[in-house]
Amino acid sequence: MDACSDPEIQEVVVMAGAQLGKTEAILNIIGYHIDNNPCPILVLQPTLEMAQAFSKDRIAAGLLRSTPVLKDKVKDPRARDSGNTTLHKVFAGGAITIVGANSPAGLASRPIRIVLCDEVDRYPTSAGTEGDPISLARKRSATFWNRKVIMVSTPTNKGASRIEDAYSKSDQRQYHVPCKHCHHCQVLKWANVKWDDGQPETAKYLCEECGVLWSEADRVWAIRNGEWIAKEPFKGIAGFAINGLCSPWTPL
Ligand SMILES: [Zn+2]
Repeated sequence: MDACSDPEIQEVVVMAGAQLGKTEAILNIIGYHIDNNPCPILVLQPTLEMAQAFSKDRIAAGLLRSTPVLKDKVKDPRARDSGNTTLHKVFAGGAITIVGANSPAGLASRPIRIVLCDEVDRYPTSAGTEGDPISLARKRSATFWNRKVIMVSTPTNKGASRIEDAYSKSDQRQYHVPCKHCHHCQVLKWANVKWDDGQPETAKYLCEECGVLWSEADRVWAIRNGEWIAKEPFKGIAGFAINGLCSPWTPL
């Protein structure tokens, strides 16, 4: 979220496991722009059906209804004279358009400053016959000097993954966490998860440096104290990779 407000950064790539707050981050970026930095925003979902569900369940029923400062800024589509629809909502100084990556019509219209691409590994190769949906969305933002393209996804097929490909072109930041016992900073790996046969509830994390088995409290402490470390030099694209072992909501 900080990277999305950083003027040095043009693109943000987030490759993350399920249930790590990716969609919540997208909603926060939308809310921030409606309230503080209004501009035209495009949200790209894998399909038109998912675009409609995202608009109704996450934006209208979630973000707008539960955030006091946003409540009166975007009119409900059901209100008379609102002019708003499920997939296009105007607010003072900007608008949100929500489209499906399978729907070329939605991708071909207005100029956009913030392009938010959610779950990109579930996009079709082409939006109808119009070509790559992310390239089409990116073209919408070409006239803004302060444009941002944000791509978020759980990676699916190794070797044929849009998010993996985009991440490989970024500065490749990985989430490193410290061991509470020896303070060695490390990226959590599945190979270091240990448990008794048939008893998943006994799972513990083995520190790669000191060999201490972390308690669940140690793991949560480590996640809270982690930091992003880039592998490659920064050239305008900030990339973030984090896996499900870093979820504070799911036990090991
Ligand atoms: Zn250690």
